[in-house]
Amino acid sequence: MPRDAKQHSNELSEPGQKYSDSGISRGQWVYEKLIQDVRDGKYAGGVRIREEEIARALGVSRTPVREALSRLQARGLLELAPFGLVVTELSRQQVLELYAVREILEGSAARFAAQHASDSEISALHSIAREFDRDHADPQRLAHLNRQLHGSIYEAAHNRYLMRSLNEFQDTLALLASTTFTVVGRPKEASKEHAVIIKAIERRDADAAEQAARQHIHRAQEARLKMMLGIVM
Ligand SMILES: [Zn+2]
Repeated sequence: MPRDAKQHSNELSEPGQKYSDSGISRGQWVYEKLIQDVRDGKYAGGVRIREEEIARALGVSRTPVREALSRLQARGLLELAPFGLVVTELSRQQVLELYAVREILEGSAARFAAQHASDSEISALHSIAREFDRDHADPQRLAHLNRQLHGSIYEAAHNRYLMRSLNEFQDTLALLASTTFTVVGRPKEASKEHAVIIKAIERRDADAAEQAARQHIHRAQEARLKMMLGIVM
């Protein structure tokens, strides 16, 4: 499971959070912290990122920040504007491209999960889905549980190369800062779609699981486009 998928939402991005040696390098910590901040909307698309300010805010030297920023730039989360590094602002076309790839990756993960998930992994999927269904009031909580659910499907797929692609891809998805669970009716739909995916995984129907996961991402994309067009908020 991706590291961020395991954290509880109220632990994310606490102000004043400092580096403590938890087995990851400072550069990796800064990298993950910045991705989390982009995901939380703290740094929106087009916002300038200054090495010095980040270093001061996070209480680290400039070296790990420089390392993190160059990785973020290589991943396409930051880009070089004439006046410095800025958070990438996705065009509608880029959003469509992202969702097109996401549909394939998530579809493959669900297919492999139908083939390889253990019984305990399947019961974990059910319990996260139940938690998601329990209350639809808080979009951030739903976004967190959704990442956790999808992360658990990736794990259940038992394919390290797909996992690597998905984890890198999740980082890029941080650029879609606001969650589609703010769209009216979307949480309820997503609940139903999750149930279809999990049932297909449970009955080991790889075709149906892939189809259901692709459908789910396609619906998420539709909600995203509505948000971008300001149709439903
Ligand atoms: Zn979902």
